[in-house]
Amino acid sequence: MTQLTALNRRNFLRLGATGAAAAAIAPALSRPAFAAAAVPAAGGVPAVGYIDVPPNVALLNINEFPSGPTPAAVDIMHKMAVNGNRYYMNETKKFGAELAAYHDLKPEYVTLYAGSSEILHFTALAFTSPTKSLVTADPTFEQTWRVAESQGAKVHKVPLKADYSYDMKAMVAADPNAGLYYVCNPNNPTGTPVKRSDIEWLLANKAPGSIVLVDEAYIHFSDAESVIDLVGKDKDLIVSRTFSKIYSMGGLRFGYASARPDLAEKLHHYGVNSMATTAVQCAKAQLADKQLIPLRKQTMADTRNRTLDFLTKAGYTVTPSQTNHFMVDVKRPGAPIVNALAHHSVMIGRTWAIWPNRPRVSIGSPTDMASFQTAFLEVMQMPDNKLNALVHPYPHLLDPHAC
Ligand code: PLP
Repeated sequence: MTQLTALNRRNFLRLGATGAAAAAIAPALSRPAFAAAAVPAAGGVPAVGYIDVPPNVALLNINEFPSGPTPAAVDIMHKMAVNGNRYYMNETKKFGAELAAYHDLKPEYVTLYAGSSEILHFTALAFTSPTKSLVTADPTFEQTWRVAESQGAKVHKVPLKADYSYDMKAMVAADPNAGLYYVCNPNNPTGTPVKRSDIEWLLANKAPGSIVLVDEAYIHFSDAESVIDLVGKDKDLIVSRTFSKIYSMGGLRFGYASARPDLAEKLHHYGVNSMATTAVQCAKAQLADKQLIPLRKQTMADTRNRTLDFLTKAGYTVTPSQTNHFMVDVKRPGAPIVNALAHHSVMIGRTWAIWPNRPRVSIGSPTDMASFQTAFLEVMQMPDNKLNALVHPYPHLLDPHAC
């Protein structure tokens, strides 16, 4: 219990609560995490911290939200866990229909998945082959690359333009008859939005039958415009969404695909599983919380903008992110910087082959980002020979397939 108390207190402080709010909530910190009901609804319950790194390590490596789901969502999950023997299929179906209605779609246009990774995986399986290529930006989230390659498909990686926008003309020119065009909006790892007009251009200029997959995993953090409405217009389009990011459900697993029923059916071919009833109810409770997105979007923007300002003033180029992550040009290979920061109790993300000098950094709590700033300045002073001698202290957390 002593350790639990310390971790709860630390995570609470990492959320950035201050003054009277902190004083009011402090007594609750000695109880288990889901008892902390006094935390403001959209703030999220502090995580208990079972990850096997020291509790002071800032986890800015895999684009996780820095706090857990809302107290109301944690409460309903507790109740659902007790009834974990039941599949509750009808509840899942009803929530799928609710999500479809939320986007003005008919129920058959929405399929629920345990996170959006499966959607990306199944879409690449369904629409790429040795004769049907994949076209993506570079850098971008690589999951579809791996699946397409495993299918023997050619993968065309089209560099982002200098302003970080997608080069849609070059993407169509790379293969006008591609099986699949993958668009990540906003783009991971840069955090930069893709213009809706660019996606409309792609839909209008690709060959008939080529499919566009728009991955909107981070859209809630940004001002990017969704294209889910175009699914309702029966375009050759699949849109994937996840509750892993702004809804802080990465470990709970909830995502959904919006697609024309004939396209959805091609994905169903690879499996339609029962959903975890805890995750369904957690997603439902958080979707109903109208404060959650505006509050978390604003908090994230404040923390992100302070971090980007700090780095810019210190002379570093950063991507103009609108999400919970960005890339920073460290003016030398990024991998040793990642290792050195981990030795300073700050884990950041990885680099991409096309931009080896720009590791990705996720945005955590204000306290996490303060640790990042201090550690970053210290590490950037280190000579190359010292940097290059360091190995990562937490290799068990390094996953080449991670976000
Ligand atoms: N899409 C993008 C762009 C991501 O960065 C991630 C993971 O971080 C995913 C999809 C998959 O996330 P999940 O399976 O948790 O929904």
